[in-house]
Amino acid sequence: MIQELRSQFPILQRYVHGGKPLVYLDNAATTQKPQSVIDAISNFYTTSNANAHRGGHALGAEATALYEGARSTVAEFLHAQHDSIVFTRGATESLNLLAVSIERTYGARLAGKSIVVSEMEHHANIVPWQLLCERTGADLRVIRVTDDGSLDMEHALEHIDESCAVVSIVHMSNVLGTINDVQTVCARAKELGAIAIVDGSQYVVHHDVNVAEIGCDAYVFSGHKLYAPFGIGVLCGRYEFLAELEPYQTGGAMIDRVSFEKTTYGEPPVRFEAGTPNIEGAIGLGAAIKWLSGLDRDAIRTKEHSLAKNLVEGLESDSRVRILGKRHALNGIVSLVVDGIHAHDLGVLMDEQGVAVRTGHHCAMPLMQRFGVGSTLRASLAAYSSREDVDAFLHAFSKSCRMLG
Ligand code: PMP
Repeated sequence: MIQELRSQFPILQRYVHGGKPLVYLDNAATTQKPQSVIDAISNFYTTSNANAHRGGHALGAEATALYEGARSTVAEFLHAQHDSIVFTRGATESLNLLAVSIERTYGARLAGKSIVVSEMEHHANIVPWQLLCERTGADLRVIRVTDDGSLDMEHALEHIDESCAVVSIVHMSNVLGTINDVQTVCARAKELGAIAIVDGSQYVVHHDVNVAEIGCDAYVFSGHKLYAPFGIGVLCGRYEFLAELEPYQTGGAMIDRVSFEKTTYGEPPVRFEAGTPNIEGAIGLGAAIKWLSGLDRDAIRTKEHSLAKNLVEGLESDSRVRILGKRHALNGIVSLVVDGIHAHDLGVLMDEQGVAVRTGHHCAMPLMQRFGVGSTLRASLAAYSSREDVDAFLHAFSKSCRMLG
């Protein structure tokens, strides 16, 4: 089964560094794309290329149908309604859109209020809120992470109080693999009248999502981590929440009427999609979701879990290795440091052996600070990861460690 699945990814057949088979374990940064996604993009340009929502001609109608069809596919995937899906450039743009639109909508009422995030957020879910706080006089509050890499739920429930205007929490950490109980966090936020936002960038790759069950006002992710192209992402908002929000960018496509005296805006989702959208990206994302939906996701999750266990057990044979948030690593993201060896040096040597991993702060500097490290080496799994990938990783890892002393 795994060989058949891998054969759908042309890039996995290639070699790097003069003949080393590619071992790709940087999936939390971006996943590779199956042939069906590559074909969907190529077919669009070959047969239907035109601007969506513009031309009255045949190609324009086809492009519009494909673009809106992709929106329906995303909506079904998240158990949301069609008009709740806003296409963006990625999770980063979705979060910036939310911060700016919330500020424009609620403005001065945010002064003295609090915005709650956690210590394990990606910078994309910190900086837009930090800037909003600087501009409005709101206060940024941070939920602690425990020593074992979990969200401190007691602290979370204490922190989310009457002063809270927005809670924005990651569903699955891109560093630790921790899966947060976002349902409880969102319920608490909603009980107090706050806006509840979830960053699902990593979670959505491995798990089914039902936004109504989560109870959030908005759920965001990027396409490129979900086997889809770059430059496309999703903001799935509760429709009534979106309908209240002021726009983010303005211009063509997002308006109702324009005159020099006054402009009125369209309804969501078009209100948040100014200008020509990334049509090929949306089509590619739709194809990726269809591809993913054709797989047995439970079986893939079980396999990823078992591979992560092999990784952790293999790493533990070296007493110098410390895995951050080890109990969460089984979710498919393993971050580690090695006593006396810099993660970057390890990453370079492993790359020379064909093993692609990520080293650095993973856009989560506050979390690095929390664990007292500057950077980690991260291996992250995807549906096509194999036992051979794990064995190659462990072999290259111990060889590199030996070389570095
Ligand atoms: N949030 C999380 C949890 C992520 O892992 C990432 C990507 N590393 C982002 C947000 C930002 O995604 P993008 O750069 O695709 O906008």
